[in-house]
Parts: sequence; structure tokens; C-alpha cells
Amino acid sequence: MEKTCRLITTRQCNRHCWYCCNNQEHIETAWKDVMLDDVTGKYELYILTGGEPLMMSQFDRTLHVVDSIWEKYYNDEHAICPQIVIYTSICSLRLPEIMPKIHGITYSVHYNWDAHDLSMFKRFQTYAEFYDEHSFRLNIDNTLQTELPLNTSVWTRIQSFEPLNPCPIPEGEDLCRLVEIF
Ligand code: SF4
Repeated sequence: MEKTCRLITTRQCNRHCWYCCNNQEHIETAWKDVMLDDVTGKYELYILTGGEPLMMSQFDRTLHVVDSIWEKYYNDEHAICPQIVIYTSICSLRLPEIMPKIHGITYSVHYNWDAHDLSMFKRFQTYAEFYDEHSFRLNIDNTLQTELPLNTSVWTRIQSFEPLNPCPIPEGEDLCRLVEIF
């Protein structure tokens, strides 16, 4: 039984960071294409990532992935009890629909943030205060030039990252990319 599945639910994202893994050739060979049925019920931890899993056009798809993981767990006695974490860099207004079904969010701050992103980041921190049982991790691009309105009490962990191209490949995890479209 594998422990962690890092699952790209979508490659769509509207930020176009210069260091985005989605455009890098070595990622193509490191990640395997899967259908949802290939991964549900098999992992202790699902890290749902992208692309941007919570952007408006992709939200239903991500919700479907989360629901499918739980459906497998409740309907298959051999399925492992999952933890689900979502990687995002936006504060979706639909968060209340998905928060009760997941265990945490890792929020990434990128160098190309504008005033709207900062405003939504503040909103996210306010929102996160209502979910003290969830884990909230913050990753900050160390080339960010803007001052961040940071509320440190919200975050379980805060760390900076150095943008790299090619980007590093995560180790010790199954790296999967969802090809199933609905
Ligand atoms: S926010 Fe993430 S997924 Fe989107 S372009 Fe930047 S690195 Fe890629």
C-alpha cells in the first residue's frame, strides 16, 4: 500500500509563473497519467495540486476528486482512511463547500501577486481562523517584492521557497496526473 499520492487534478492556472513545473519536460516522465479509480482507496495522504485546483473553472472537478476519495473509503472495506490536502494560491469563494471534506490547505504566494491577490490572501486568513482543526501551511516565493499582510497565528507552518527551473521532483510519493475529464 502506497502512503502518499501527489495528484495533479488539473494543469490549468492563470498565473503563468516562469518556474511552473507544468511546462517542464522532466515532469512529463516523472508523473504517471491515472484515472480516478486507479488511486482512490490506496493512499493515506492525497496531495491535490495543479495547476490551480481551486480556480473557478476547476472547482467542481476538484470537488469531484475529493468526493470520489471519500466514496471509495466508505464503500470499500479494504480502502485506507485518507487525509486530503489541497495546494492552492487563491482564496476561492467556494471554500466552505470543500473544507469539511479535507484536512488542510497549503497556500503558495508567488512573485507575480497583485493587489487583488493580497486582498484575497487577507480574506483567506480570516476564513482559516474558523477552521482550527485544519492544517494551514504557507509557502512564500522568496523573490516576492510585496509586503505580505501576514497573520502568523493562522499558519501551522510558514516557509519560503526558492523558485527553480527545472523544479525539483518530490521524493517518496507517488506522482500522478489525472487524465479523466468530466
Ligand atoms: S501558480 Fe503554480 S500552477 Fe500556477 S503557474 Fe504558478 S507555479 Fe504554475
